[in-house]
Amino acid sequence: MEIIQKAPAKINLSLDALYRHHDGEHEWRMVMTSVDLADYVHIKPHASVHVTTDSGFLPEDPRNLAYKAAIALQKAAGVRQGARIHIEKHIPVAAGLGGGSSDAAAVLRGLNTLWGLDYSLAQLATIGLQVDSDVPYCVYSQTALVTGRGEVVQPLGQLPNFWVVLAKPGVSVSTPSILNALDYNQPMPRPDTDKVLAGIKANDFQLMISGMTNSLEHVTAGRHHEITALTTRFIKYGAQVAQMSGSGPTVFGLCEKHSRAVRVYNSMKGFCKEVYLLRPL
Ligand code: ATP
Repeated sequence: MEIIQKAPAKINLSLDALYRHHDGEHEWRMVMTSVDLADYVHIKPHASVHVTTDSGFLPEDPRNLAYKAAIALQKAAGVRQGARIHIEKHIPVAAGLGGGSSDAAAVLRGLNTLWGLDYSLAQLATIGLQVDSDVPYCVYSQTALVTGRGEVVQPLGQLPNFWVVLAKPGVSVSTPSILNALDYNQPMPRPDTDKVLAGIKANDFQLMISGMTNSLEHVTAGRHHEITALTTRFIKYGAQVAQMSGSGPTVFGLCEKHSRAVRVYNSMKGFCKEVYLLRPL
């Protein structure tokens, strides 16, 4: 028996950092969606938890978020069985696309089936929060308003119709280092998340994009000039909005029309090696 779970990449349509909790964690308000760029997590029965990947760059030990998720579920459910978990990696690593969190969420969904636990997605999301703040969203992997430390996930309806072009520059960004540098005493760019929500509700692309901003973008862009270079190019080439995802460094542009998105994709390819033309799921 083999279970295969799709683990899609996420992007942040809005990312608002509200304040830092006493324990150092952040209070978020963000709109997240998933795109059709995905890892595939293969799960088979096994006596203990064992993780492999085809990437060559990722840890295959307890540092892997997929491993952490399996152990967290084992403990929560009091299960003795393990699993052989193989991650077929397609999502760029440490890119702001939540690849590790999505793998962890896929493991939770897959093991829920393999071990016959019958947990709800809400229960899996609660367990997933121990692994990473993006895991609760990734358990659902559908457009949602995400608040709290990442644990409150309110699925939203259909998005307006649009295409996503992703550009991943060749720089590495450490999420904890960007989050540590976030200074709540300084004014920071903030999204109008209510506008983003209203745009989604009214199926109005222009209204949706008018509220978009990522509060982490100025921090990452201050360290890597590639971010601003990419957002500027996206707009120059015709994207209707351009923004960094998560803590970066991936930048995405949105276009309503496929023909325009293809033009943007082709133009960005001349400027950045890793470019994808995608649709939201
Ligand atoms: P986020 O935006 O959720 O912080 P990210 O998209 O920037 O995440 P990931 O690709 O999830 O970044 O990787 C972040 C770190 O997690 C990397 O340093 C990587 O080594 C580690 N990691 C552990 N397990 C995984 C996994 N299964 N896939 C990717 N990275 C993993």
